[in-house]
Amino acid sequence: MQTSSQLDALRARIHELKDLGGIIGLLNWDQETYLPDKAGPARAAQLSTLQGLYHQRLVAPEVGEWLELAEREAAAADDRSMLRVFRHERDRAVKVPERLVRALAEAQSDGLAGWREARAARRFAPFQPALERLLALRREQADAIGHGGERYDALLDHYEPGMTTARLLPVLERLRASLVPLVERLDGTLDGADPFAGQTFDPEVQWRFTVELLGLLGFDLQAGRQDRSIHPFTGGTHPTDVRLTTRIDAANPCPALFGTLHECGHGLYEQGFLPEHHRTPLAAAPSMGLHESQSRLWENLIGRSLPFWRFLYPRLQAAFPAALGRVPLESFHRAINRVRRSPIRVEADEVTYNLHIVLRTTLELRLLRGDLAVADLPEAWNAAMVATLGIRPRDDVEGVLQDIHWAWGELGYFPTYSLGNLYAASLLHAAERALPALWSDVERGQLGTLREWLRREVHQQGFRTSAEDRVRTITGQGLTDADFLEYLRAKYRALTGRVLTTSS
Ligand code: ZN
Repeated sequence: MQTSSQLDALRARIHELKDLGGIIGLLNWDQETYLPDKAGPARAAQLSTLQGLYHQRLVAPEVGEWLELAEREAAAADDRSMLRVFRHERDRAVKVPERLVRALAEAQSDGLAGWREARAARRFAPFQPALERLLALRREQADAIGHGGERYDALLDHYEPGMTTARLLPVLERLRASLVPLVERLDGTLDGADPFAGQTFDPEVQWRFTVELLGLLGFDLQAGRQDRSIHPFTGGTHPTDVRLTTRIDAANPCPALFGTLHECGHGLYEQGFLPEHHRTPLAAAPSMGLHESQSRLWENLIGRSLPFWRFLYPRLQAAFPAALGRVPLESFHRAINRVRRSPIRVEADEVTYNLHIVLRTTLELRLLRGDLAVADLPEAWNAAMVATLGIRPRDDVEGVLQDIHWAWGELGYFPTYSLGNLYAASLLHAAERALPALWSDVERGQLGTLREWLRREVHQQGFRTSAEDRVRTITGQGLTDADFLEYLRAKYRALTGRVLTTSS
């Protein structure tokens, strides 16, 4: 066979796998949004079957042969990148037996059901057996993939290719050491009347506002949609079918506003892949950390900035005249940037947020290493919250049950949020240098300036290189906390009038 036909055969299989992945994505999205309660077990079986099929079609021996021949002959840079990414995924998959893939898929669905039941009961116990099963399977998976003695590395690599526990832990420890004193200095400094207290924000008006927000940021609603879910996320089947969800709280507009901004950041990334990369592994972020950099950038660095709200706040006031009509912009801006020790990660401010991540990463690492029993997890969580943030959750819903990740058996995902925060600050810093009009454009609601820059520099690059290499190309340096800490200090210096010079 000619090499070109090997590459063609491989490309056809790659397209097929992407299609299967899209269908799995649709079923997952549906499970989180509209699936009737009684259909849970049936959906678990459907997902397990599809994931098994995906696995078979990926690891099939002929694919290995096509891949080897294609690697020898592929000349175009994008083809070589595509083969490298595909090789990485396939090599990992080949090592994992199909039995384990199916068992994991079933355990994930059971985990989700157990987590839901536990949340309804407001205690951890109903979730414990499912999490124990997931943990056992993840250990088995990590051993099958292989690692140098740290199982967490094998799992981390799935979300953040190239990252290791040994490299990650010092980054998180430095962040913790810088942030704890900063929280100490800032906690309470922005307190004042809560502009949202005692107010009602019509859910339908909130919904319409979030849809307008999507339009303002440039999310293409002809190539995606937004729905509601308990735990907002971004999913979908293809860059032309990107599905966001948001959560609406009638007592407070922030979950919907910042949830939508966050997921929209993910959605813009997905919609921004080059059409020629569609249905290939290049139409993907090179890491979840880089994906998170896009969501956090829009949610926080832009979405909680004063210029952004100089433009948008009159519109928000017009949407909620009774609640916000007499609240000045400055009060609103302070309220959405208040630093507070709070139990819920997704509602945490930018200063305390990474402390929530350090806590989760430490706990899941201990679980995986066997240093912590699942039965002891809720108390370990509460003790860590007291030690890190000085607060104790009222119950397990406010504590260990708040995130969906462990219900899906996602171990190694959490640290990507912190990496995303660090990358976001470095990318914004580079954008400010490249785009002198950035902030004056934001203030006029012209968000396309930044979006198109991100599109060129990040989205359209897809998975051509690693996340850190892409960031290094754009910013001149790899992973660093310097830009993030400087961003926080400058922001809170302006908000509080205090000079914040904790060592970094
Ligand atoms: Zn996110």
